[in-house]
This record gives sequence, structure tokens and C-alpha cells, in this order.
Amino acid sequence: MQKMFDVRAETMDRKEIKELQLERLKHIVAYAYENVKMYKERFDKIGLKPEHIKTLKDIENIPYTTKDDLRDNYPFGLLAVPMKKIVRLHASSGTTGKPVVSGYTKKDLDVWSDCVARVLMMAGATDEDIIQVSFGYGLFTGGFGLHYGIEKLGATVVPVSSGNTERQIMLMKDFGATALVATPSYAMYIAETARKEGVLQDLKLRLAITGAEASTPEMHESLRKILGVFPTENYGLTEVGGPGVAGECSEKCGMHINEDCYYPEIFDIENNRAMHEGEYGEMLLTALTKEGMPILRYRTKDITSLTYEPCKCGRTLARMSRIVGRTDDMLIIRGVNVFPSQIESVLMAMDELGKTYEIIVDRVNYMDSIEVRVEVVDPSLLVDYSKLEGLVAKIKHRLRVVLQLDVKVRLVEPFSIARAEGKVKRVKDLRKLQEKL
Ligand code: ADP
Ligand code: ZN
Repeated sequence: MQKMFDVRAETMDRKEIKELQLERLKHIVAYAYENVKMYKERFDKIGLKPEHIKTLKDIENIPYTTKDDLRDNYPFGLLAVPMKKIVRLHASSGTTGKPVVSGYTKKDLDVWSDCVARVLMMAGATDEDIIQVSFGYGLFTGGFGLHYGIEKLGATVVPVSSGNTERQIMLMKDFGATALVATPSYAMYIAETARKEGVLQDLKLRLAITGAEASTPEMHESLRKILGVFPTENYGLTEVGGPGVAGECSEKCGMHINEDCYYPEIFDIENNRAMHEGEYGEMLLTALTKEGMPILRYRTKDITSLTYEPCKCGRTLARMSRIVGRTDDMLIIRGVNVFPSQIESVLMAMDELGKTYEIIVDRVNYMDSIEVRVEVVDPSLLVDYSKLEGLVAKIKHRLRVVLQLDVKVRLVEPFSIARAEGKVKRVKDLRKLQEKL
């Protein structure tokens, strides 16, 4: 059995988990109804009363909460307690429109750091680790979320925040960091830079705890090869609190959801149907314990599936599969559905290619086109016409097999594509720009 931060919470049998979830669900529904105007109005409109929630299945009668609901109630409309009880605020970056705000009471922060500590231990961290946090510190939940989880675990936290990659590497080396917390794309950027500087052998890293954006098994494999780390994935979102919702264990077979705090559902929204175990759909999350800002059935837009099979690590917590994409980042190219993660899987599996790429979608003469730009490892290849053609043809072929679509491929110099220090944005959809004009 793998070491656990909270053996009791992480190894309950299914019946016990369900009983605890039902008890907490009943409480949080009544609490939200009594303390948040939006929930009271929603419930009253359809004649739903908190006491109608008698089984876990009854949750399906509760209306969803959406990102727009959070925006419409910006900044504090969904708080369930007076501001005096709120001790921390966070907000998501909100690239368009107003950001989404989350407020925490002291108790919320305590539960949150517990959940993060559990996820860290799932990833293999112990109180002996020195953990460098290269998530941004600020309104983003990632930096502070991991920070307090690491302290709770009793490990040493190095709060470097994101950016200034050369300095990150120097500190990692000098402080002897054994674990790195970063987005997978930034972890890769750090890895590539350390390799370029020839200091990889001076690093003591053994774990890369990544999250906050999508990644693929192939990306993890590349991190393992370059940095010599055991990479794991984490999941969370501001709306329900931040990181610590779920994380991978040493088995790397899905992310364990902290089910005593988060109740997950996989739903087919269009047909208003709960999906079965193993089926993919949008995940809805209900935060079962939040005091500051209770959230019921939040539509995450993240597509995943669940399994309730106990894991070899000893945990009984349900596992969510890696996010295949967000409903809003699925590309439709000439009628074919494409998730950027499918493209990443193909590119990362090829040793000739670097680990940075971008996807450009356009519409020319009413026809969608998609181009993948990817860096090569060896720039001399770019001037060897026959080798270049051969590699392009190989990538195109592999993409065609996976996507059933012809993709333009352009190979570019190492380090020529801009890197992100936080969440990476790989897709440029020029069609959306055209629509706006
Ligand atoms: P922002 O909205 O500013 O990006 P959040 O940190 O709240 O800020 O973003 C949460 C979203 O990030 C999730 O809904 C999900 O789409 C994405 N995300 C977080 N962790 C992962 C992960 N491990 N895999 C894929 N996507 C993730
Ligand atoms: Zn496990």
C-alpha cells in the first residue's frame, strides 16, 4: 500500500463514501439554499426544497451552476458568509470578460490544504522533499494552493513562482529541490533549458507534480526521459476552490478524486443523462464542504470519465481519467472533431521532434485548414531537403491515422516558438478572429 496523508478518508469502502457524501450533500444543499440568493431563487422557481434531496441520485434535480452564473454574480454575489469570515480571495485569469472569484473561510483553507497534501502524497512526495513551486503566485489558485498543501505535508516549500527560468534552475540546483510543481508545459520548458545549459546532471529532482492544464502520457514520458522524474498529474479549478480536487498516484492510472470533499458526476448535458462508469462526458462537481462559496453541480466543461474500482495503491477514491479536452476547446475542422491532445500524443511520441508546438486553424475560401508547427531537435534537418520531406510525410501520416484529417505540418527551429511560463495556449483559431471582424 502506498503511503497516504489521510488513510481513513482515502480508503473508505464504497458504502461508507456514499453515506458520507449523502450526509454532506444534504447539508451543503440546505446551506446554499439558506445563504446564497441565487440558489434560493433557482430552487424556488422549480419548487425544489433541500429536504427533497434524499439520495445521491436526487442531486440530478438540482440545476447546474455555470461560469456565467459566477460572472453574473461578480464579485461577491455567491458568498454564503459575511465578508468578515472570508480570509482569502482568488480569481481565475479570465481571458475574456470578468474573472471568476472564489472566497475562502479559515475552515475552507484548512480543508483545501489537506486535499492538496493528499494529492502530493499520492504523487509520491513526503515530508522529506524540497518542493519548488513554479506555479504563479497571486490570484491564480495554483501557487498558494500548492504552497499551503506542501506546508501541511511537512515538506520544504520553495515558493519561486513562475518566470525567470534560468534563475529557477539555479535555485533548483543550489537548494537541491527534489520535486517540481509546474504546468506540464512549463516543466518541459525548464527541462529543455536545463538541458541546453548542460546542468541536468546537477539536479536532484525525482518528482514533477504537474497540473492546471492538459497533458498527454507522451508528454509525461518526455518529462521522465529528460528530467529523470516521475511525473504525475493534478486537477482542480478555481470555481470549486482550486487544485487538490484530484491527483494521480504511483500507479498512474487515473486521478483520485477527493470524494469526501468533491462529488463528481459525468453528464451528457444535451440529453440530460448521467453517464455510466467508464463513459466520457462533461464532469459536474459539487463542493461538499465549502463554507465561503458553496457550489452545486458546477459545469466544468472538462471531458473525462470515472471509475470506482479500488486502485492498486490501496485507495478507494474514484478515479477520473485524464481530461481529453474541454467542450470549448474541441476544434471542428471540416466537420471532424479534433482535440489538441490527439495532436500532442502524436508529436510527443516522435524523438526527432522537440516538445513545443502550436496549432493554427484558419478558414480560406470557406474551407477550414489546420496547420501544426513543431520544433525539431536537430536544426540541421531543416536544410536537408529529403530528410525534411521524409519527416513531414511521417508526421502527416500519423496525424491522418489519428484524426482522419489532412493536416499541414511545418517544422521549425528549436526554441523558435514562444514558451509559456504558466498555462500554455497552443491553439490559434484564426476563424474566431474573422468572425469578430
Ligand atoms: P483559468 O480559468 O484561469 O484557466 P483555473 O485554474 O481555474 O483557471 O482553470 C481550471 C481549468 O484548468 C479546468 O477546468 C481544466 O480545464 C484545466 N485543468 C486543470 N487541471 C487540468 C489537468 N490536469 N488536465 C487538464 N486540464 C486541466
Ligand atoms: Zn491509486
